Amino acid sequence: MPSIADLHLHSTISDGRLTPTALVDLAYAKGVRIMSLTDHDIVDGLTEAFDAASKYDDLTLIPGIEMSTDVPGNEVHINGHFIDWRDETFQGKLRHLQDSRLGRARKMVDRLVELGKPITWDAVQAFADGAVGRPHIALALVDAGHVASVNEAFDLYLSRTGPAYVERERLDPEDVVSLIQSVGGLATLNHPRELYAAGSLEALLERLKAAGLTGMEVYYQDYTPDEIVTYKALADRFGFLPLGGSDYHGLGNPQQRDPGDISLPIEPVNAYFDLARKSGSIRHARVAHS
Ligand code: AMP
Ligand code: ZN
Ligand code: FE
Ligand code: FE
Repeated sequence: MPSIADLHLHSTISDGRLTPTALVDLAYAKGVRIMSLTDHDIVDGLTEAFDAASKYDDLTLIPGIEMSTDVPGNEVHINGHFIDWRDETFQGKLRHLQDSRLGRARKMVDRLVELGKPITWDAVQAFADGAVGRPHIALALVDAGHVASVNEAFDLYLSRTGPAYVERERLDPEDVVSLIQSVGGLATLNHPRELYAAGSLEALLERLKAAGLTGMEVYYQDYTPDEIVTYKALADRFGFLPLGGSDYHGLGNPQQRDPGDISLPIEPVNAYFDLARKSGSIRHARVAHS
């Protein structure tokens, strides 16, 4: 059953295919009434998203961000919600992350040239409006005819163990939780499937509990009912709110779900809002009039 809440969405400002305006309009048309734009390491889409949301009296928009962090052998993504995204110190740190993403993406283009799958930096940039990421490189690989799909680009070259992979600047999960909290935000651990499969989820949850994490994605994209039961039990055990989202990018991957096409119940979302009200960071959101 679709949800009226979707706390994890991407736009062209990172690696989504819809502008913030088109994303807000699509989410609303799909029945979403509580949404968050969570672009990768960047908040530059939020002004446009808030403008677009102002057309809809009954739409609540939470300012968000998805930040990439690392543990040995795995990437860990953490969403920040209700952030004071205009904070200048915060924006300075994000600019630094953007710069390091650019350097890393250029190195990946060099690796692909060495691997005999040449793409140009211009071709990558043609797909990127803001934060550059591997999906833009994947699209350039499809465009150049080296692979048939974005998924194939990841499978053959760009995944963490792929031959063209270059690491981002490494950040510890605790540092990212602190950064989110420094601008009043609440932090949620994203898509735990890979970490669970690697056997490293519980140790990470211990660390994140100590760091002040609030939620964990349980109702995510293509997660099965069995997976949801597993992750919900872990969230309950550690005292994290079971949250989630579609992680909609509009790239047309088989695992893609439309905005709101997840089974996220409203109760944990309401509890999340209660915490934001208590801390005062609710003021960074646009709350529906009705
Ligand atoms: P980056 O931030 O540049 O490391 O890119 C990470 C993004 O790439 C993720 O947020 C996903 O959108 C996308 N991604 C990662 N792995 C895959 C995959 N196997 N297939 C398709 N997209 C992926
Ligand atoms: Zn992404
Ligand atoms: Fe992610
Ligand atoms: Fe995401």
